[in-house]
Amino acid sequence: MVQADKVNKVSEDIWELPMDYKPGMRVPGRIFLSDRLMEGLESGTLEQVANVATLPGIQKYSMAMPDAHLGYGFPIGGVAGFDIEEGVISPGGVGFDINCGVRLLKSELEVGQVRPVASGLIDALYSAVPSGLGSESKLRVTDAQLDEVFTLGARWAVENGYGVKADLEHCEENGEMKGADPSKISKKARDRGRPQLGTLGSGNHFLEVQYVEKVYDDAVAKAFGLWEGQVTVMVHCGSRGAGHQICTDHLKVLEKAYVKYGIKLYDRQLACAPINSKEAQDYFAAMAGGANYAWANRQVIAHWVRETFNRFFKDDLRMDLLYDVAHNVAKFEEHMVNGEKKMLCVHRKGATRAFAPGRPELPPAYRDVGQPVIIPGSMGSASYVLVGTREGMDLTFGSTCHGAGRVMSRHAAIKGIRGSEIRRELAERGIIVKAPKDSAIAEEAPEVYKEIGDVVEVVHRLGISRKVARLVPIAVAKG
Ligand code: 5GP
Ligand code: MN
Ligand code: MN
Repeated sequence: MVQADKVNKVSEDIWELPMDYKPGMRVPGRIFLSDRLMEGLESGTLEQVANVATLPGIQKYSMAMPDAHLGYGFPIGGVAGFDIEEGVISPGGVGFDINCGVRLLKSELEVGQVRPVASGLIDALYSAVPSGLGSESKLRVTDAQLDEVFTLGARWAVENGYGVKADLEHCEENGEMKGADPSKISKKARDRGRPQLGTLGSGNHFLEVQYVEKVYDDAVAKAFGLWEGQVTVMVHCGSRGAGHQICTDHLKVLEKAYVKYGIKLYDRQLACAPINSKEAQDYFAAMAGGANYAWANRQVIAHWVRETFNRFFKDDLRMDLLYDVAHNVAKFEEHMVNGEKKMLCVHRKGATRAFAPGRPELPPAYRDVGQPVIIPGSMGSASYVLVGTREGMDLTFGSTCHGAGRVMSRHAAIKGIRGSEIRRELAERGIIVKAPKDSAIAEEAPEVYKEIGDVVEVVHRLGISRKVARLVPIAVAKG
């Protein structure tokens, strides 16, 4: 439980960790939570927010979104922006699953057309997209192709027949992060990544057939091409073993580098180096490669989803990409700090970019309305589409939550929850679940996550992103 007396409530949903919460803090901490979510927060998460606040060059606040929980070094749900001269880059602020993220495909189908075939459809999707821990792909890439995947990202996939050009425009960074250098990616990371391109991975990763149950904002939903009753497909996965190994490899280097550069850390898991150092630049170049691998991965998977839908419905069925967001990445972005425009290196770990209308990073189709933000809930609850706002640019460097956030560990879930029961309960509610085994369902049962409605209500009330549509599951394939 949280030591509430050391945390100040600034206003509804905004809590501040003062500078004297912990020695060495360079900025205050800010946590965006309702009173109810604050009651459930572990004190370790607050410590992590405070630890991040001690890092050199951090700007404004060390922040945590309402889905925050304990992570490696940085909390999951953490957002931190660093000055590019005095600041640092830290793999702990990105996470092991580099560019884990979510994309949403919009079909022209209505829920009534899909429900009757949902069982066969999810079986077909489950076999079209390999999933599970260490699963291998149908795709065989050579080492030279892998280099292209690391540098070109989603563009590699589209140029090789997986998807269409318009997909690229609808990915954050166009699915191709600049500055990637495959020579900074180890043989081990390549060996892990090569057989896994085009796989979902395990546990928390999923592919879900859903429909739009409710539209909150007609104008924005129209601009996004969303309507009530419409069937959508959400894909959540990341950079698989490649990203994990890149993180592991570079952490080893940075664990030495922070000592060499005289950086005092409260937690070794915050290993980092000055942005302009060789060690940090090497990590960034490898991380960008990992991010590109994840974009190629989601692109290939989306192609197989489309192929499967084509077989079930019609050959020329349209399934346009609404957007593809990264929720584990560090990026260079311009933000206002003390009334001045400034380039920052923004780390988002379990947090989603949510840019306001007018930002040049947005594709023309969304420039007047704001960025689509995709927020998964759980296999038994709703998920949401939100839109980025100007308030978010001021309050959180244009960031919002990334999901509901875990409240129960995998271990506790396997001990206390029966997967077979969850499967039956969900089936009664019209939700079909495919998973490698029942324990995988237990680990991911709806009750291991916070109430997504509570989390989304906080970001909506704060105005750091606004509700556009609520999606509910029809059938879920779990990794
Ligand atoms: P993470 O990236 O932190 O592993 O997961 C992001 C979020 O995805 C979680 O916080 C949770 O809210 C959500 N999530 C996990 N499994 C599922 C699922 O099967 N379906 C949906 N819609 N969301 C899920
Ligand atoms: Mn994720
Ligand atoms: Mn992930």
